[in-house]
Amino acid sequence: MDNKLSEFGSMVFGDDAMKERLPKETYLALKETIREGKDLDLNIANAVAHAMKQWAIELGATHYTHWFQPLTGITAEKHDSFLSPTSNGKMILAFSGKELVKGEPDASSFPSGGLRVTFEARGYTAWDPTSYAFVKESILCIPTAFCSYSGAALDKKTPLLRSMEVIEAQALRILKLFGHDDVNTVKTTVGPEQEYFLIDRELYKKRKDLFYTGRTLIGARAPKGQELDDHYFGNLKPRVSAYMRELNEALWKLGIYAKTEHNEVAPSQHELAPVFTTTNIACDHNQLTMEIMKKVAENQGLACLLHEKPFAGVNGSGKHNNWSISTDTGVNLLEPGESPKDNIQFLLFLTAIIKAVDEYQDLLRVSVASSGNDNRLGGDEAPPAIVSMFLGEELTQILDDIANERKNVGYIKRSMELGVHVLPDFPKDATDRNRTSPLAFTGNKFEFRMLGSSFSVSSPNTILNTIVAKELKEFADELEGAKDFSEALKKLIKKTYKQHSRIIFNGNNYTQEWIDEAHRRGLSNYPSTVDAIPSYIAQKNIDLFEQFNVLSSEELHSRHDILFETYEKSINIEALTLTDMIRKQIIPSATKYMGLLSRDIKESSTYVDAIYLESSIKNLNKIASLIEDLHINVSLLEKYTVETKAKDNSIARSMDFYELVLPKMGDVRVVCDTLELLMPSELWPIPTYGELMYSL
Ligand code: ADP
Ligand code: MG
Repeated sequence: MDNKLSEFGSMVFGDDAMKERLPKETYLALKETIREGKDLDLNIANAVAHAMKQWAIELGATHYTHWFQPLTGITAEKHDSFLSPTSNGKMILAFSGKELVKGEPDASSFPSGGLRVTFEARGYTAWDPTSYAFVKESILCIPTAFCSYSGAALDKKTPLLRSMEVIEAQALRILKLFGHDDVNTVKTTVGPEQEYFLIDRELYKKRKDLFYTGRTLIGARAPKGQELDDHYFGNLKPRVSAYMRELNEALWKLGIYAKTEHNEVAPSQHELAPVFTTTNIACDHNQLTMEIMKKVAENQGLACLLHEKPFAGVNGSGKHNNWSISTDTGVNLLEPGESPKDNIQFLLFLTAIIKAVDEYQDLLRVSVASSGNDNRLGGDEAPPAIVSMFLGEELTQILDDIANERKNVGYIKRSMELGVHVLPDFPKDATDRNRTSPLAFTGNKFEFRMLGSSFSVSSPNTILNTIVAKELKEFADELEGAKDFSEALKKLIKKTYKQHSRIIFNGNNYTQEWIDEAHRRGLSNYPSTVDAIPSYIAQKNIDLFEQFNVLSSEELHSRHDILFETYEKSINIEALTLTDMIRKQIIPSATKYMGLLSRDIKESSTYVDAIYLESSIKNLNKIASLIEDLHINVSLLEKYTVETKAKDNSIARSMDFYELVLPKMGDVRVVCDTLELLMPSELWPIPTYGELMYSL
């Protein structure tokens, strides 16, 4: 165990390594830079670079890279060797402060949404000293931000860092009003729970759809799905345990502690939950986690599927973004304490969040929009596309009482009667579970459940931080001028809650009644990605981001454009893959089966054959007509795809992919899945749902 303990974070140039290896003044200066967000002195950078290099080389590193998060949503690296030639022709291992602080990768192959025309290929990476460097596969990785020559953010980290500063500044103002002069910094914290599927790698490689698009585009349901709920928290299969063990160890060395790992609802679906940390580190860690999950799977002869909906008919995968706000004095500002009704400071922060979510529903929605997630949101096991929040009975009651000036009777905590006498009764949680809510208060944090499993948590948190900062600013502006602070406070909570309580919904979000009710309440509903994307450039949202300097209008337009581009490209790949599978695999196999059937029919002569004959002919006719249907539908699919591709702008193309191509893919699938059920197993050319989902 001691050995294991000492391995925790052994691949990270974290606080311990810095303290041990840096001269004391350098260490203190660096800490100050990190804490106060100051610019870094080149002398300090040189000293840090030297120590970091020594440390990395001892761990076997030969190269270094600025590790960054372009707008593709995944991470990018450009490796440089530590080796430098000297004037006398020898080689030395060198790494300077300049190389640590700034890099110049060729930026032309990353999407910029028009922010950087390709001939001006230069982009800069800049060290983010608030996130620790680490060694991965003999490479020293330095977390960096990525921006254009003119300083526009070309990545997901820069706006996130900006948003963290913005919410910190406003939260500090509020805390001052409550007399907390001892608080110096406020950070948002995140713990993203990650869902995923594990399947056998050999089977995975036989499915072009999984390989190219991450999800199955055809496949009849297995006889057994998730209806028995016997997978959830069930025993882990040996191959899965082995996978989790290797994954845990790899993450452990990188300082990522994954707390719980269990089976999820769908067969072969699992979940990993890390211990929460500061938002930008949590974001870096989640990106790393996803990368390592895939690599370890490969090592173990498995494939880790991070797509939001690998299989139709069983649950998809999400990422639950647990979010809170903490002070450097160790206080979680979303902790209601023993008596929430008397905790006015908590209620003020809570009200700010309610207002933020109500006013910027559209932004939260677009932060989770992607073609993959469209297959999941609004399904009967994922939150709907309508944003609302769950507070639970107690908190809702308290706020209702304040709003209606009812004498607050308090809320009597009920004991759970377990009916088993050996077990003590325990008080019911302040919030009972609501697994259907898009944004649920879970005791001392909010759980934003709409994120897709493959998402970077960066944009959703950039948005959460910024919208809450905006409300905190409004509150601080109002309260700082108040004559009677505690009166003003009550009035503010009352007024705000009255205006925005429509966003609170504690019931079942999966029902049609809620959709109707949400419509009556005037909540926005953007069922698909193409509906949601324009919110990025709605004037009220541009105003918000510009007011706080989190994203400029130009940067927002670039994100808007990239979302449309990514959307149309993804559906295009899906349509091409499906066409290819139907033409090259499904139709030829079905045709071969037709040949076998007709040979049997022709050669039949005995009495037994005669009985068999009738069903064979029926079967033959059915197969023939399904093949015919497949031909027709796949030709139409191809036609629509070609026509859509020919449209002259990305929005028009995305619209047609959504309205014409996707439904046609659905038609093709229906025919193909019907055909699959009529075919003998040995002639079906690709692994079936049953084989994929129960392969371990
Ligand atoms: P639950 O039972 O509500 O799911 P857990 O303690 O299992 O709560 O935590 C679920 C996830 O929430 C974990 O990844 C955890 O790190 C994260 N989490 C817990 N507290 C916080 C917090 N204050 N801020 C952000 N994330 C948190
Ligand atoms: Mg949870």
